[in-house]
Amino acid sequence: MKKECLEIVREKCENCKACALAASRTKMVFADGNPETARIVLIGEAPGEIEDECGKPFVGRAGQLLDEFLADAGISRENDLYIINTVKCRPPENRVPEETEQAACRKFLDAQIDIIKPDAIILCGATALKTFVETDRKRTISKLRGQWLTITVDGVEYPAMTIFHPSYLLRNRSMEEGSPRRLMQQDLREIKNKFLAEKNNIFAAQPELAAV
Ligand code: SF4
Repeated sequence: MKKECLEIVREKCENCKACALAASRTKMVFADGNPETARIVLIGEAPGEIEDECGKPFVGRAGQLLDEFLADAGISRENDLYIINTVKCRPPENRVPEETEQAACRKFLDAQIDIIKPDAIILCGATALKTFVETDRKRTISKLRGQWLTITVDGVEYPAMTIFHPSYLLRNRSMEEGSPRRLMQQDLREIKNKFLAEKNNIFAAQPELAAV
């Protein structure tokens, strides 16, 4: 049922020209994951070059690093997550999507969340955080990551946790205690523990993170 509803939204996105990003996209990037089994929606920023070519979110270097952290936490990208971005078309030169572009695409994002009705939402990176939560100099991603917040989408409240975007972690390779990578590991394990732990044994068979 969810698949059918999402297919209607996907068709609208395929034909969408509501913002300037339609002109420069190769492929519209709708989502990844199994909508019937996903209990968590992960929201990233925007498609990059590889995603624009493939039509799938988080498949470039940042996506590969995210996959490693998910595997470490015991979260299945294929079954546990439904992955989307704040905009469905690639901004030129990988710039941050503008507010008008995000606003134009917001109806699709909200519709996807409304159809999935997840148990929780992961806000991946500062752009996703700012889309749903008011931020200022005291409420930065560094301060808010790792905290459970409540966000409202179409009148429905969801628990949400902000994590660092993996592209930030590509530039910060340390796994020292308190480093961004270590905090990412901690946050994803917390999400697994809170929402997915009963599916499989928490922290079982966690592979070591490779240096991507
Ligand atoms: S980014 Fe969203 S609103 Fe803009 S053209 Fe693509 S689908 Fe439409």
